[in-house]
Amino acid sequence: MYPGINEQMSRRAMMGMAGAAVIGSSAIAKMRLEDKTMQPAAKPEADAAAAPVKPTGRVQAYGSYAMDLGGISVRVIADGDFGFGPSWPLFNAAGTKAEVDAHLARQGIPPQPFRGQVHTLLIERGADRVMIDTGCGTSFGPDTGRLTRHLAAIGLEQKDINLLIVSHCHPDHINGYAEEGKPTGFSNAKLVLAKTEADFWSGPADLSGSKVDPEMAKLMRASAGMFVNGTKAKTQLMADRDSVIDGVKLVAAPGHTPGHMMVEIAGSKQKMLFITDLIHHAAVGFSKPAWHVAFDADPVMAAKTRQSVLAQVVAEKTLIAGSHLPFPGFGHVVEGAGNDEVFRFMPMAWQF
Ligand SMILES: [Zn+2]
Repeated sequence: MYPGINEQMSRRAMMGMAGAAVIGSSAIAKMRLEDKTMQPAAKPEADAAAAPVKPTGRVQAYGSYAMDLGGISVRVIADGDFGFGPSWPLFNAAGTKAEVDAHLARQGIPPQPFRGQVHTLLIERGADRVMIDTGCGTSFGPDTGRLTRHLAAIGLEQKDINLLIVSHCHPDHINGYAEEGKPTGFSNAKLVLAKTEADFWSGPADLSGSKVDPEMAKLMRASAGMFVNGTKAKTQLMADRDSVIDGVKLVAAPGHTPGHMMVEIAGSKQKMLFITDLIHHAAVGFSKPAWHVAFDADPVMAAKTRQSVLAQVVAEKTLIAGSHLPFPGFGHVVEGAGNDEVFRFMPMAWQF
């Protein structure tokens, strides 16, 4: 049903290509990737000699964007983009393709090829470096798995992360933990995962409520099961509103998966909510929050969760970012104009 993702996840040839792309990128990662002064025609040798930007605070770099919330900083790190497959029944399976295409057309988006982005979030407070999710690794093709090079641009590697929050166990959030069975380097990180999520994927993982085809369901169960079982010894199982570190807590957003979690980060100046997979595409999720997403394990509950969380962030004027918003994806949500636009996302302007 989703040739784009199915093809990318199942073809070893593609994974091989992706591996080559990542190896090739290590040279790029060594280059100076942040250029705040717009130096004209810098020579590659000079770029290579420059140190990566210093992490923490509001220092922008290639592939990531940071905000200081007051004593705690958050940095959206792009992992890349991938083909989502046909826009219907990816969205609004209960409705028609014509409805989805008309809705996308109103926003200037052609129905094909339909692409999505995926990001992780780095939270830094004192000595703590907490990351939310691992990205896709190379399992989604050569345009993903860029986390490693984007970490390198701020002088970090996966081994510098001491706590990894896993929002849920879908492949675009966990497959960056290991590449073809070998860990990518989160060796010093303890893991946090919702108990409901671990229980779901440890068992038969009923995906019959979703619209994924049997092949995709098999791939999802395999990667999630392997991840949950393989990381058990390092994982602390948590629940809604549990505190991860000072100022960082889990917020349950069930439906997409049973244990799907968002993360609230509170600094002395500002609070934000990382909505993870509450929204899968900004052109659809905000304006049509009732439209089901094919990957939702319980689409009805997921839509209910999406509507109530969005209503709450509007009422409380909460700053948000998310796993699948247009990079970097910080912004606010406001009421929309009507039935074809229930809510509207207002992206924040880039701050240098
Ligand atoms: Zn996702």
